[in-house]
Amino acid sequence: MDILQAEFVISNTEVSKCPQTDKPEFAFIGRSNVGKSSLINMLTNRKDLAKTSSTPGKTQTINHFMINKAWYLVDLPGYGYAQVSKSNRENWSHMIDEYFKLRDNLYCTFILIDARLEPQASDINFINRLGQLEIPIALVFTKIDKLKQSELAKTRNQFEKELLKTWAELPPIFVTSAEKKTGRNPMLNFIETALKARN
Ligand code: GDP
Repeated sequence: MDILQAEFVISNTEVSKCPQTDKPEFAFIGRSNVGKSSLINMLTNRKDLAKTSSTPGKTQTINHFMINKAWYLVDLPGYGYAQVSKSNRENWSHMIDEYFKLRDNLYCTFILIDARLEPQASDINFINRLGQLEIPIALVFTKIDKLKQSELAKTRNQFEKELLKTWAELPPIFVTSAEKKTGRNPMLNFIETALKARN
């Protein structure tokens, strides 16, 4: 799939104010600093469509982008900030639960994982939370340019082992580098296939 058009639509702190659910959407989420903005910019081939939101305490918003006038790419607020207050965490939790409850046009949520780290409890917990809600997910390892092949294989293995403790089957997994533009075609093809399958 070619990205012919990518436009910012709206930022929201309330799910009820998000665009109507009349177009398919694909969401992106992960721990702060995982490389989410860089990945979205790499996929859409834009320099700064998504802006980094890694400053702790900054308002966390749900950002909708319209792609090719056909589907929404959704940049969701991340988790795992070290210095975030309890009330901020509760707001985030509420917003995320509402998002997954109300967006019946959601085709898939890409959960981004920093390939340099061992499996993190916050990632595993989030993946399991979406599993319980029966939300379709795919995993995206980021920043793989920082690793040797053997190191990436080791992290991936550790992660898969951890997931297979609770999941009968592994979700689709992508390995990416925004720096080197790795993984762009596989992810865009996956989205294209998902869009066609539902049409
Ligand atoms: P976000 O907070 O999840 O949106 O993360 P950003 O996209 O702002 O990236 C966080 C940091 O990781 C920045 O310093 C980026 O330059 C760096 N980064 C993001 N993607 C990559 C990548 O593919 N390779 C490398 N080497 N660094 C990356």
